[in-house]
Amino acid sequence: MLGEFEGRDFSSVCEDLHSFAAELYPICRSITGTGIRETLELINTRIPLEITEVPSGTEVFDWTVPKEWNIRDAYIKDASGNRVVDFQRSNLHVVNYSIPVHAAMSLTELEPHLYTLPKQPDLIPYRTSYYKEDWGFCLSHNQKLALTEGRYEVCIDSTLAAGHLSYGECYIAGRSTDEVLISSHCCHPSLANDNLSGLTIAAALARFLSGRDLRYSYRFLFAPGTIGAIAWLARNRDHVACIRHGLVLTGIGDAGGFHYKKSRQGDAEIDLAMAHVLQHSGEFSVTLDFSPYGYDERQYCSPGFNLPVGCLMRSIWGTYPQYHTSADNLEFIRPAQLGASLRVCVAVVDVLEGNRCYQNLSPFCEPQLGKRGLYLSSGGDAGEMAINARLWVLNYSDGKHSLLDIAKRSGLKFQVIRDAADLLFENELLAQFPDDGPSPG
Ligand SMILES: [Zn+2]
Repeated sequence: MLGEFEGRDFSSVCEDLHSFAAELYPICRSITGTGIRETLELINTRIPLEITEVPSGTEVFDWTVPKEWNIRDAYIKDASGNRVVDFQRSNLHVVNYSIPVHAAMSLTELEPHLYTLPKQPDLIPYRTSYYKEDWGFCLSHNQKLALTEGRYEVCIDSTLAAGHLSYGECYIAGRSTDEVLISSHCCHPSLANDNLSGLTIAAALARFLSGRDLRYSYRFLFAPGTIGAIAWLARNRDHVACIRHGLVLTGIGDAGGFHYKKSRQGDAEIDLAMAHVLQHSGEFSVTLDFSPYGYDERQYCSPGFNLPVGCLMRSIWGTYPQYHTSADNLEFIRPAQLGASLRVCVAVVDVLEGNRCYQNLSPFCEPQLGKRGLYLSSGGDAGEMAINARLWVLNYSDGKHSLLDIAKRSGLKFQVIRDAADLLFENELLAQFPDDGPSPG
């Protein structure tokens, strides 16, 4: 699978990811409303999505699905009728979930509703007020400093009313009903890394996996952050027992190195697989222990669920200056960075698909590889490595060590270990353990 991905024209893979992000970028998304529906519809043009609408007021665990928010326009006009702050220029200008307002007021009256970043005076901040009915505008600090005393016309043409919360799922059936969950939040407006990077990569991964003969089934969830994941978990409480591995994809388009936050379990197969893939990726990477803040892994790894779901990021949220500002734009996510992140995702799926335990059928001393033609070195480091991999696999295939465990122990790449296991299996030196597991494929 990874080989096939690597055989593709990488630059066109990268450009496609970025152009899809550019298509999604202008939409004013929120945790409910038409922006999220338009986003799901665009994803649906690439992969088949089943869309669920959860009514406002629905109780989901300790939370309640909020009213639906929609916005058409918003501005602050000066006395001459000029739009000095204009939603049409950037949807970040309005505090997301602002209630409607249309009034004339002085600058002093307006000021408590203005949000800026004095330390980053050219950038517009991103603010929300989902669970407290309020209104406000976000603008650059320099823009605010340019406002003079006088009367302003303030308008937010929004609605906050009973409606629905929307999420979309793409399910790809494999040989087993055991599932891999890939989850990305889709509620932020014009912010590129957070999280068009996650959305576009998840959609591309789903498209890459579609139509393949897969060991696991894959479920891609595109849901608003926090409340969307909570609503999905509430509606799938019994279903989650079939989730074997999971990944939250977020903030994976910037130039920073990879950060993988482990599941709460800490030693789940996804944690070991991701650590292995990143270690061999040739990219800077750091593995972090689970913490109860961040993205939707907080919900999947809440103690009642404790699912094996980790979170793949590049720069960590909140630590980079572009985070939650207008500088998190299409320039900030580069095609090659998106492509490299997709490659990591394909590589980890390749490990999950191929990882299994074997039993050595000739465990008393080494089997004689030479008489089976398995000790012939094709020469060079690669040939020597292939033979070493066969010895590692034979020695540790005791039904207790998976191929991933053996890869980790040997320092060899998973693919080299798996190729060795395939060859030894064909030569009847290994049996699958347990033998009722899914067949290699
Ligand atoms: Zn965010």
